[in-house]
Amino acid sequence: MAMSSDALFNPTEEHEMLRKMVADFARQEVEPQAAEHDEKGVLNVELFRKLGELGLLGITVPEEDGGAGMDTVAAVIVHHELSKYDPGFTLAYLAHSMLFVNNFYHCSNAEQRARYLPKVISGEWIAGMGMTEPGAGTDVLGMSTTAVKDGDSYVLNGTKTYITNGCEGFCFQVYAKVNGRITAFVVDRDCPGFSTSKHIDKLGMRGSTMSELIFEDCRIPAANLLGEEGGGIAHMMRNLEIERLTLGAQSVGIAERCVEIMVHHGNDRKSFGQPINTYGQIQRYIAEGYAATEAAKALVYNVARDVGPNQRNRIGSDAVKLFAAPVGKMVADYAMQVMGGSGYCREYPVERLWRDAKLLEIGGGTLEAHQKNLTKDLTRLMCSGDR
Ligand SMILES: Cc1cc2nc3c(=O)[nH]c(=O)nc-3n(C[C@H](O)[C@H](O)[C@H](O)COP(=O)(O)OP(=O)(O)OC[C@H]3O[C@@H](n4cnc5c(N)ncnc54)[C@H](O)[C@@H]3O)c2cc1C
Repeated sequence: MAMSSDALFNPTEEHEMLRKMVADFARQEVEPQAAEHDEKGVLNVELFRKLGELGLLGITVPEEDGGAGMDTVAAVIVHHELSKYDPGFTLAYLAHSMLFVNNFYHCSNAEQRARYLPKVISGEWIAGMGMTEPGAGTDVLGMSTTAVKDGDSYVLNGTKTYITNGCEGFCFQVYAKVNGRITAFVVDRDCPGFSTSKHIDKLGMRGSTMSELIFEDCRIPAANLLGEEGGGIAHMMRNLEIERLTLGAQSVGIAERCVEIMVHHGNDRKSFGQPINTYGQIQRYIAEGYAATEAAKALVYNVARDVGPNQRNRIGSDAVKLFAAPVGKMVADYAMQVMGGSGYCREYPVERLWRDAKLLEIGGGTLEAHQKNLTKDLTRLMCSGDR
């Protein structure tokens, strides 16, 4: 028997309540500020801290450690609902709660958790994650930032770039090579030798900021090593899966909102004396946009059930991002076409969603990176017996 849609999208009553709470918050508080912060290119820090009050910043951290104790589906729900109204603000949330909090939680010890979790789960400290470098993005293992042990410290040298929350962030999970082996650290803004560049201006996702993280003989306590020296790749790869799912969920949020806008506009707008939704060409945008959105949504939620700290699913998460990211961009484009000139104007949200959607084909892995990973993983899975 087919599964009911509620079992897929809201598998428990808790998930359903979470969705309603986030959807109400997004409509009432996120939507009204989105255009202004997009225009200014800044994060609404005050509103961001409200995510802490709502218990959303530690969504995947167990309750006994101060989090909400929820799963990957819950993380997907939050990104999906917030992204309908402000994908840029949602990206700041993703960088904080997924790239830092979730990531940090799974590679930190009890002392480190006690030092950081209360501050980042409340929102007092905004956080982010530094992996990408000016010379190493897709080729992340080619990073050149180094860390050298010196007594009770590590000394870091190098630069990370395009780091979301770089401008407001107080602490960052950073990857650097110790004797050539990728290792994870937590670095605070007040560590000597650490600085950030000015905000790097961007096309979309303008409700969040990004900057370089610069390490010039940056000295951090040895107690800020996360896990073991050389253990960074495992932390990085595990976290990339939930990152790709939540980025996919952002795309679904954008697409769903754009379908809603298209349906209303198609019904309200008249040309040649009749609603434009009576024309087959407009029907095609609406119908195909809806069908693609539903397919992306089903894939995101289906894979999310099989991803967790102890449940790896790189094939699923790459497939989600590869399929869902272009859907957000395509449906935003359809909505703009259906709206005509008004869709291109700043007065309406579609042009912002259209600009925001493009990032999802680049950040957290480009489409080409997903194609490469999927081919490699599927070949290993299906052909290993042949070789
Ligand atoms: C708004 C924004 C926010 C971001 N936030 C963060 C963050 O918080 N933390 C962080 O660490 N990073 C962040 N990033 C960085 C992001 O993850 C990288 O931009 C992305 O991984 C691509 O790397 P790159 O920009 O160096 O492109 P490159 O790796 O230089 O790629 C350029 C082009 O070459 C293609 N290419 C590269 N290698 C191959 C290959 N082997 N086969 C085929 N094609 C290939 C790529 O697909 C792409 O089309 C952010 C980026 C943006 C734009």
